[in-house]
Amino acid sequence: MSVRVRYAPSPTGLQHIGGVRTALFNYFFAKANGGSFILRIEDTDQERYNDEALQDLYDTLDWLDIPWDEGPGKGEFGPYQQSKRFDIYQDYAQKLLKTDKAYYCFCSSERLESVREEQKKNKSSVQGYDRHCRDLDPAEALARKEAGESCVLRLKVPLEGKTTFHDEVMGDITRKNSDVSPDPVIVKTDGFPTYHLANVIDDHRMEITHIMRAQEWIPSGPLHVILYEAFGWTPPKYCHLPLVMGKDGSKLSKRHGSTSLVDFRKTGYLPEAIINYISLLGWSFDDSREFFTREDLEQLFSMERINKAPAVFDYKKLEWFNGQYIRMKSKESLLELLIPILQKDGIVSYPMTEEETAILDGAFPLVQERLKFTTDVSEMIRFLYKDLESYNCEDALPKKMELSQIPAVLDAAAALLEGFKSRSQEENEQAFYNLSQEMGLKMGQVMQPVRVAVTGTNISPPLFESIRLLGVEKAIQRLNALKEQILMTLRP
Ligand code: GLU
Ligand code: ZN
Repeated sequence: MSVRVRYAPSPTGLQHIGGVRTALFNYFFAKANGGSFILRIEDTDQERYNDEALQDLYDTLDWLDIPWDEGPGKGEFGPYQQSKRFDIYQDYAQKLLKTDKAYYCFCSSERLESVREEQKKNKSSVQGYDRHCRDLDPAEALARKEAGESCVLRLKVPLEGKTTFHDEVMGDITRKNSDVSPDPVIVKTDGFPTYHLANVIDDHRMEITHIMRAQEWIPSGPLHVILYEAFGWTPPKYCHLPLVMGKDGSKLSKRHGSTSLVDFRKTGYLPEAIINYISLLGWSFDDSREFFTREDLEQLFSMERINKAPAVFDYKKLEWFNGQYIRMKSKESLLELLIPILQKDGIVSYPMTEEETAILDGAFPLVQERLKFTTDVSEMIRFLYKDLESYNCEDALPKKMELSQIPAVLDAAAALLEGFKSRSQEENEQAFYNLSQEMGLKMGQVMQPVRVAVTGTNISPPLFESIRLLGVEKAIQRLNALKEQILMTLRP
């Protein structure tokens, strides 16, 4: 039997790290086993459904370049959007009713509320629905429904016995049936199925072989197995994926930083870096290898190597991966990403002029060597394209120095730059080192104001390279301009 797995998000919010981890694990598991990856939209909750979230899902999978073998618009088991499958759920719900595995419940929300209050007051160990309508006469219940009385359909969870489901990672998980949610609603008053019913029917009908989803869903496991049994079906294999934590050991959330993919995209992360890093959140190949391209993962991913222990999401590590992938890109493909950013930020024109292209060409090796995020490129090389109108003097002020000391530093540096071109890189370094010694300063205390004067920022390429790219004459002019500005601010 060939592997069929699915990613089944509910489009209620933006795609985040956890969801994408689930998508990628399913995708790579399918590829590694020559199986199919299915995308199913679980949009039965009309109140929480959100168009933007659906668009974001498509955009995210598109950006990561994770195509589905079956899903909206493609495949023989469709429709793949639950809101288009209501007839199917109705039919199956009726089957459960006929086989006495489900029953109509007419309890009003007021009644349910007061049951809950009672339970709270009595500190009752039983929580939830009190199964009030479980033993109504089915014919009578049907008559009431047909007379127009509002009702839901509930699953008859066995009162005794135990339910075990086997998880490929966690092993056997057993629950007493009396601890499983007491007779959950499977069809709502408005006729819509709940998550549990739709999810189980679809996994069965779509012939899903393995369910890989977040550990948050483990509590639903026994209930789903009971549903499969009620239908007389065999459940797929389960594989619940370890939690993703922040560094402080609590579940990853916005408190730790951005978690939505669209934010990572806007920040200038590469999909390659995201895919590589997220694949390591709960999976490993061996104990040392870290770099995996998409093609590697399509071959090497295996369920056996999924961990039990929670994974820790380390923003710094992802950042590091991003830098590594930027360095690994070919010039052509990196430029393809950088040029639109430079154009959007108004650094270069559209299309680029010859002169602009030449400047970028010169700066490229350094840019590729130093970029952390693609979006940093504009700030990094703006100084090569634009005159610096004014400076933020604070940027130019090293620690433990007074602004009044800076003009002298800039003057001395400008004098040194006169001979810049005739010296080698080492000689220039030596010259600046000597200068700092003479002035009783640290090398960095001399370099920082010079760097800010020349480039306007502290994140430019290395200083001497920046000067070389800009041209010595312009660099000297800028040193003077910063000096003038500082003198103006110092004037009483
Ligand atoms: N729609 C559920 C979700 O949003 C799917 C859970 C599952 O994979 O069964 O996570
Ligand atoms: Zn009831």
